[in-house]
Amino acid sequence: MNVGFYGHVRQYRGIQAEIDGNLREVLESGQYVMGPMLKRFERELAAYHGMKYAIGVGNGTDALWLSFMALGIGPGDECITTPNTFFATAEAIWIAGATAVFVDCDPRTNCIGPAGIEAAITPRTKAIVPVHLYGQCADMNAVRKIADRNGLLVIEDNAQAIGSRGDGFKPGELSDAACTSFIIQKNLGCFGDGGAVVTNREDVDRVVRRLRNHGSEKRSCHGMGFNSRLDDLQAGVLSAKLTRIDEWNALRRQWAARYSAGLRDARSITLPYEMPGYYHVYHLYVIETRKAEHRDSLVDFLAANGIDAKCHYPIAIHQQEGYPWGKGARIAGAIPNSERNAACCISLPMFPELTADEVDYVTGKVLEWDRTAGAA
Ligand SMILES: *Cc1c(COP(=O)(O)O)cnc(C)c1O
Repeated sequence: MNVGFYGHVRQYRGIQAEIDGNLREVLESGQYVMGPMLKRFERELAAYHGMKYAIGVGNGTDALWLSFMALGIGPGDECITTPNTFFATAEAIWIAGATAVFVDCDPRTNCIGPAGIEAAITPRTKAIVPVHLYGQCADMNAVRKIADRNGLLVIEDNAQAIGSRGDGFKPGELSDAACTSFIIQKNLGCFGDGGAVVTNREDVDRVVRRLRNHGSEKRSCHGMGFNSRLDDLQAGVLSAKLTRIDEWNALRRQWAARYSAGLRDARSITLPYEMPGYYHVYHLYVIETRKAEHRDSLVDFLAANGIDAKCHYPIAIHQQEGYPWGKGARIAGAIPNSERNAACCISLPMFPELTADEVDYVTGKVLEWDRTAGAA
């Protein structure tokens, strides 16, 4: 059996009539940029989050740095985040001209650890940028308290966790802005690039809206800005898919539970940890080998059996040669958990359109490896 990592075409088949209908509506309207479909999707996305404002932008990276810029974060400012995330979290801080300060993640959730944040605060600290890694919210109750005590901004990197919940909060509610990505492999994916900023702050809404469209609020009047718009065709795809996101996230949780039950007794790996009271949406189902030297052995064994497993993310940002050190970033304190996560992580196939047979096949192969190579 072959089990792929994504189910993009299966998903399209399941919702083809709605997507094609929206695409036709946009095509026949003649309004492809900043048109009515974008406005409609922005309204729907804000309502979905229970938030006042949603602004569609070109991609998730832009959503982050446009938010930083709208909140006045720039040169001389430090933003505290984790190094075990997709590169774009730090890249966006660099684009804004600020300095990324990397602290360690929590050993169980792999999201930012509150103790590390407190220890890393300096007079230059301006913001905390928690990443809701793999589809589970960071501990925003703790982040909010630290931010309040120290007068810091909070910008959530919510690229992976649309539809998730924490204990008593949803993404966006405890921060100045939550930033999401709609690139196809995310839980809510369009057919290309897209992103959005969700916020309750009227000033953030107004400034991001202006910055994404050449600094213009009124036709022909400009301040300095950029071009980063979500186009109406992508908004049409997303508007159709948004009606299914809760159903799809529930399926992801169902497959995650099936993996975790099947792999419960495996001795050489650890399974994802869900915080009590949290609703993890399993953008990725990430296990870790107990020994770093086992990671590639398991990935290769799965590949040899037709299973596409991946690693998110095998090189932490502070280990990337391409990251600009000095003004660009620094590490605060020891970061053993982030380094263990990078060395040991394996993402098993996870998408709503998996079948029970596929999940059971993958589970069986992981167990087979666990009994043989994993026991060595
Ligand atoms: C995908 C992703 C981004 C960037 O989104 P793009 O749309 O690719 O620019 C940022 N942060 C995290 C954690 C991501 O997973």
